[in-house]
Amino acid sequence: MRLDLREIIHVPDAQKSFQLQLDLSDLEFYGRKPISRPVLAEGSVTNHAGALVLEGTARSLLDLACDRCGKEFSREKVVELNSLVAQELEDEENDEILLLDGTELDLDQVVREAFVLAMDTKNLCSDDCKGLCAKCGANLNDGPCGCKPDVDPRLAVLAQLLDKETE
Ligand SMILES: [Zn+2]
Ligand SMILES: [Zn+2]
Repeated sequence: MRLDLREIIHVPDAQKSFQLQLDLSDLEFYGRKPISRPVLAEGSVTNHAGALVLEGTARSLLDLACDRCGKEFSREKVVELNSLVAQELEDEENDEILLLDGTELDLDQVVREAFVLAMDTKNLCSDDCKGLCAKCGANLNDGPCGCKPDVDPRLAVLAQLLDKETE
């Protein structure tokens, strides 16, 4: 969706609201395509004393797999949209500002980029997920598996390091 801001670009306090649905189901993250349902975005662009401010949210229910135990689960992802919009860049260094194409803002692209940037690199089914038993592979969230806790201490340290690295 392209939002034409012609009516508010030069009108202080003017506001234009938007609502859109976006299909991002093709996007792959770590071998999965978690954004299987449409992304719903809504918000507005407001002229604050000549500065155009985009505010809103984009949300979808993601299909994820726990990085620790492998369980599949769904979780709502809400991404805040908050950017300045301008017709041209006064400071070339500032890439935080969304550029208009003429008087139009490419909202599909804005929402897509914001959503991709906000995707988590690590997903856990719950913060205290106990993971899988290193010996028998049982899901320890379902209760103890009966294996004796005789983990090689060197391996335990390594596992901790790897866990940190992927965080
Ligand atoms: Zn888990
Ligand atoms: Zn076990």
